[in-house]
Amino acid sequence: MSEPSVFLTTVQEQMDRAADLVELPAHVRAILTQPKKEIIVNFPVRMDDGSYQVFKGYRIQHNNLLGPYKGGLRFHEDTRLDDLKALAMNMTFKCALMDIPFGGGKGGVKCDPHQLSRDELMRVTRRFTHALGANIGPEYDIPAPDVGTDSQVMVWIMDTYMNTAGYNERVAQQRVVTGKTLECGGSVGRDKATGQGLVHCLTEWARDNDVDLEGKTALIQGYGKVGAHAGMLLAKLGVSIVGVGDYTGYRLNPEGFNAHRLAEYVKKHGSIKDYDSGDPCTRAEFFAAKADIMIPAALHNQIGAGEAKTLQTRVVLEGANGPVMAEGDVILKERGIDVVPDILANAGGVTVSYYEWVQNGRQERWELSEVDERLEKAMRRTYRHVVEFSRERGCSQREAAYSLALARLASVYQQRLIFP
Ligand code: NAD
Repeated sequence: MSEPSVFLTTVQEQMDRAADLVELPAHVRAILTQPKKEIIVNFPVRMDDGSYQVFKGYRIQHNNLLGPYKGGLRFHEDTRLDDLKALAMNMTFKCALMDIPFGGGKGGVKCDPHQLSRDELMRVTRRFTHALGANIGPEYDIPAPDVGTDSQVMVWIMDTYMNTAGYNERVAQQRVVTGKTLECGGSVGRDKATGQGLVHCLTEWARDNDVDLEGKTALIQGYGKVGAHAGMLLAKLGVSIVGVGDYTGYRLNPEGFNAHRLAEYVKKHGSIKDYDSGDPCTRAEFFAAKADIMIPAALHNQIGAGEAKTLQTRVVLEGANGPVMAEGDVILKERGIDVVPDILANAGGVTVSYYEWVQNGRQERWELSEVDERLEKAMRRTYRHVVEFSRERGCSQREAAYSLALARLASVYQQRLIFP
């Protein structure tokens, strides 16, 4: 048997530390250490040149105690089962922490979407949805966008799924996915929700630490759905983005990038490659650059010991899931650099996904102001809970966030007990 991934081991250890703090019953710990279901599908897709390629797709269903499995679908060449287990596990904790009636799931397809034409991407998505079949469903398991997928991919999943349902049930199937386009049942505010949630955490952190954000500087790794929205929202607060990076490379600009223009460029070209502002730099130079705020918004395992030793920012807000590795976490703590953990910092996305699911179920359309207000309240309330717990118990925000999530799950297990 192959070794579990570093990421999975890290998440399991993080859970274990919090489980000790809240004296989690042994059987609940045992249940939560593993996913409930691991689904792997291999499916053929016709490519544009007439050849056929077999793709591997995954769906991990970690836990559904609090509600349907919920979590993104990742289309990435490095997609691997163990990493998805870690991501699904974190979704369970994220939803529990935010008090959203969803469980945790995650999935994806091992592929490089940059190498697929739009038609090929659509056929991969539709065949993957077909292969998953009844393993997803609006009351059972609800995927959402993640790395390499977007609202268009969600609409193709929705359409494929709806077409397999009976005529009388079709409308009810629309909420099988969230993160859809507005025209096809998406929610206003979902596109920026994760970035917005990050910014709410940042403003709470700034208030606690007496920091005036106006004129401060930030580094953003990953300028996709999360990173670009975070960048544009930070710009509104007067924070200047002095470094960005993605899968094609890194750039620094001490004068600050125009966050909106950069977002437009990435939308058009797919990456920051050849962007005409700032100077190219190495990955190491990016992580060591002078700035106040670091937002990793790309992949997991990005800030290890090396990056943590050179980082000059005062705070790291985990836009990505699992960007700080265990050694990195220890070093950042020693160096007094605060870390707002992923299951709190990037929870805005699943929170507004929940609002989308509710709106679809009620056949309603909420105003942006309503979505924004609800999200802001949810993020600030949860941030305060995490800070209070960490102060009371003298633990990190990560330990506090996991502890609160585990305590909520444990109380439900203790009342429902284990069937039969
Ligand atoms: P995305 O595909 O829109 O953007 C991903 C970004 O990461 C891109 O800029 C890409 O170029 C960059 N990237 C990919 N591989 C890289 C590498 N090896 N080195 C540097 N950069 C790399 O994805 P997203 O939805 O913005 O997700 C980013 C992160 O945020 C992921 O960890 C995801 O799980 C997490 N997240 C996303 C959401 C959401 O609502 N989309 C919610 C919560 C958490």
